[in-house]
Amino acid sequence: MKFVVLLAAVAALSSAASFPGKTEHYRGNQLIRITVEYEEDLKWLRNIEEKMNLDFWTDPSTIRPVDVMVPRDFTSEFKRMLNKRELYYKVLRQDLQDDVDNDLAEAMRALQKKARIGIQTLDDFDYSIYHPFDEIQQWATDVANEYSFVTKFKFGETYEGREIGALEIAAPANAMASDPKPVVYFEGGIHAREWISPATVMFFTGKLLEMYNNGDADARRVLGMFDLHIVPSLNGDGYVFTWTDERLWRKSRQPNPDFGCVGTDLNRNFDAFWGQNGASPWPCSIVYRGFTPLNNPETTAVDAHFQALKAAGRVTKVFIDWHSYSQLILAPWSYSSAAELPAESENQLAAAAAMAAAMNSTNSVAGGYIHGPSARLLYEASGASNDYGFASTPAATYTYVVELRDTGEYGFVLPADQILPSGEESYDGVIALLDYVINNDYD
Ligand SMILES: [Zn+2]
Repeated sequence: MKFVVLLAAVAALSSAASFPGKTEHYRGNQLIRITVEYEEDLKWLRNIEEKMNLDFWTDPSTIRPVDVMVPRDFTSEFKRMLNKRELYYKVLRQDLQDDVDNDLAEAMRALQKKARIGIQTLDDFDYSIYHPFDEIQQWATDVANEYSFVTKFKFGETYEGREIGALEIAAPANAMASDPKPVVYFEGGIHAREWISPATVMFFTGKLLEMYNNGDADARRVLGMFDLHIVPSLNGDGYVFTWTDERLWRKSRQPNPDFGCVGTDLNRNFDAFWGQNGASPWPCSIVYRGFTPLNNPETTAVDAHFQALKAAGRVTKVFIDWHSYSQLILAPWSYSSAAELPAESENQLAAAAAMAAAMNSTNSVAGGYIHGPSARLLYEASGASNDYGFASTPAATYTYVVELRDTGEYGFVLPADQILPSGEESYDGVIALLDYVINNDYD
């Protein structure tokens, strides 16, 4: 059965595979890296981002280089502007269409190779390659079938009608655990092109369960103290679109009436300081906030889940929205760098420090993981998931956006050989974070 599903998925994608990047959407587009030292240059770049709707792959900040995709027709003018401001820049990718084509072709080759071998059981699931949306859903079904304390449930439906699957992991409680156990919520794939996010979430979830079954002390401890709710791929429509049409698509796929531009930046659509800084009211913007808060079914599904938890009297302790890239662990606030940090900030940052230290020690990844309050470390963004997770009811104290690998060598077109290292370090990070909560803030 699974084999049949897999073959169908490969067949469905094979036309895209034969003509990768058939739309030539990115032909001639360049990825340009700008090194910024001064606040006035950051301001200038943020202004450009807003006015020209350029696709900034990393937020303008001084902690990481600023990577921006520049459309073919604008590259000369943009470089002239940078030169005039005496800003140092480097062309990281001469023609992004080539990178996208190679990336999709590699993903398809890996899938086709796997199809020839065939998958029979969850044990054979290949975490080291990127998987299409249907396979991610099938994986969730298989995981739920494998473990008696894991349930797959319908989290919601995308605009195009895809079922968003989620897992509830409710292992037997430890003697020390609260009754009911606090909830830990992990969400992957809110931004479509960040393929490493669902891949990493699946990997560490799979590993946690396997380790639990093997009697591993870490896995037994954390799963005995928390129930985990896991959504591996929230933005299913966008994710499918990155496989079939535009590899670098970020937003949802809900049309915007009266505008030709499709999609909302779901990570600006939450009902938390919605419509303030770092989100656009313009539907064609890559950071479009939506017409009203929560007007996309994907964000509505998240909110409905937390409303249901509230109604059931459940406490959520941890909320992580997994993204890429830049290797950052970002705590509230996201909406404002001037706002006073919440009272819980000290704990949030200490837990993030523990998580970052664990992630850095696993593989000593180049550039390391850096943590801090989102808007102060990076740039303001309103209506974002980490503020929502913290400000929603029930609010989770330990709420973060985690930006996974890398720091820009490949950016969003991260080769599949980085999935396992990303998964391993994230696994260690999750254990360290949950241990921090158990040791410092659990009653
Ligand atoms: Zn993202």
